[in-house]
Amino acid sequence: MRIAVLSDVHANLPALEAVLAALGPVDAVWHLGDVVGYGPHPDEVVDRLRRLGAVGVRGNHDAAALDLELAEWFNRDARRAIEWTAGHITPATRDWLARLPERLEIEGITLVHGSPRDPTWEYITTPSGARANLGAFATAHLLFGHTHVPGAFRDSHGRMEAIEPSDGSTLVLDARRVLANPGSVGQPRDGDSRASAAILDTTSSTLTWHRVAYPIAATQAEIRARGLPAWLADRLAGGR
Ligand code: ZN
Repeated sequence: MRIAVLSDVHANLPALEAVLAALGPVDAVWHLGDVVGYGPHPDEVVDRLRRLGAVGVRGNHDAAALDLELAEWFNRDARRAIEWTAGHITPATRDWLARLPERLEIEGITLVHGSPRDPTWEYITTPSGARANLGAFATAHLLFGHTHVPGAFRDSHGRMEAIEPSDGSTLVLDARRVLANPGSVGQPRDGDSRASAAILDTTSSTLTWHRVAYPIAATQAEIRARGLPAWLADRLAGGR
């Protein structure tokens, strides 16, 4: 099976469409949460994922869109955007978000947004953070998002390796335990403005990262037109 692994789409429809087109035909779409928040197209993105039959997990922005008290933890722009999101999404979008589980085990792989021990909120950014989470999932491999930075951590004979992929990098998934992040479709933060995603090939047991250029100006114009904070448009151009 060829599976598209998407995270942190953040209501950026042009980025999602570009990624889907670039990845080509897939047998399934998995998402790692933060489908909404920051961006201007929450209903459109949820609708697109629903029609694709995407399965996935809830992110902190998805949770906050349903319960604004959780947005207390957000910075000012993120909070303004999630308040706008909560005020605009349709009942169907709300219902789809409410059904997302915190974690999911599928095809022998664990999916979470943040980390297995704190699925919605913890950021895994370092080898020690990855190591501290090894005991919190039972499968060999785990997919996570939340940091908006593509990468992986691999437990190689007791040493936790940090893997920093570029466009086209492939990681062979063997018996060694791996925590892998496809990066963010809708708001990359690693200094590369292109959308980031991955393909999991269960036949060859490989994960391949892809970077995809998309019409950033189209998303920026919609952010401004909908009165969302200007910084949320500006940051897309720098990938930060
Ligand atoms: Zn996010």
